[in-house]
Amino acid sequence: MGLIAGAGTQSGRAFAATPESPENKDQPEPLEISRYEPKSMLHVHESHIERAKFPVIDFHTHISVSAKSEKGIELVPERQYLGTPQELLAVMDRKNIRAMVNLTGGYDKGLAEAVTKYDRAYSGRFYTFTEPSYSRFKEPGYPRLQAQAIEQAQRDGARGLKILKTLGLYLRENITSGTLVKIDDPRFDPMWDACGQLNMPVAIHISDPIAFFTPTDRFNERYEELNNHPDWSFYGGDFPSNAALIEARNRVMARHPETHFVVLHVGNFSEDLRNVSENLDRFPNMSVDIAARIGELGRQPITARKFFDKYQDRILFATDATPHGDEFPQQVFNDQLYEIYYRFLETDDEYFDYAPAKIPPQGRWRIYGINLPDAILRKVYHENAARALRVTV
Ligand SMILES: [Zn+2]
Repeated sequence: MGLIAGAGTQSGRAFAATPESPENKDQPEPLEISRYEPKSMLHVHESHIERAKFPVIDFHTHISVSAKSEKGIELVPERQYLGTPQELLAVMDRKNIRAMVNLTGGYDKGLAEAVTKYDRAYSGRFYTFTEPSYSRFKEPGYPRLQAQAIEQAQRDGARGLKILKTLGLYLRENITSGTLVKIDDPRFDPMWDACGQLNMPVAIHISDPIAFFTPTDRFNERYEELNNHPDWSFYGGDFPSNAALIEARNRVMARHPETHFVVLHVGNFSEDLRNVSENLDRFPNMSVDIAARIGELGRQPITARKFFDKYQDRILFATDATPHGDEFPQQVFNDQLYEIYYRFLETDDEYFDYAPAKIPPQGRWRIYGINLPDAILRKVYHENAARALRVTV
């Protein structure tokens, strides 16, 4: 897997001359794309931003995960913990991170335990979100049960609701089998309403990079990433298109104007900021986070800077950080990851890596800083999140 970069991929001779050409004896052998690590010869200014200029709330992290999942669906309330509060706090203090939001806090006793271990033990440093209990989806009265579960979750300390892409891409009529359940399925209406009534923001992830919906072939700009994670592809099968997922999400936001939706990963369409802008204009109850998408924002720095100017009150700092998630360098929780985010937001540095990795993990390009002014930095770093969470920093 992972053949050759360049136009000659199919013949396997991208870097080699044709056998017939007389000069081919001095040509190098074909190079496997996974072994290609070009070093930039560009000499440009390099900033090192060790601490964020203002305190940070990281709105999108995964400190705990479900202890049992099947076919992309969390099936039990019990949690697995990816990092201890002590090891997280050490990085947080070094990087000026006031608080981390643990989106995958689960539900029932798993949620209560996560809140006790983090939020209650270290007040103001951790906030935990709840998640739907999809394992009860087949029970009669699920819509009402799920709304009541949100009320209970708030009593147990949850600050919001997290929706993984489970809804729309994994959850099926019989939970793990049958037809896919749509994001705007009316059985979830009481849940969205409960969040609005209880002032709990909904952090919703509904799609993925647009390249994941196209064939994993030589034209795919995320070929290596999909090659490394074939299960991330939503091309073919009975998967809806990216556009259909976004439309279903929009119908939910339209139907529940009193509920605040933070659409994760730059509205799940960071390749098309015009689309995200149109939806932000249409839906006053929509915000976005920037988790795991500085690779996208930073390769369109002029458009991104305008986007931050225009929507400065509705963009939340976030990383998708996962302690010990070394397999995914674009979201591994460590000092280097945060330094890259700060460099992107605070400097006008040019052409640097968007992830702490030898090879850019989401696509072979580099990014540019957008040099935000202090007033916008403060909003993005913590003010917008603090307002959504109803906390003070
Ligand atoms: Zn995430």
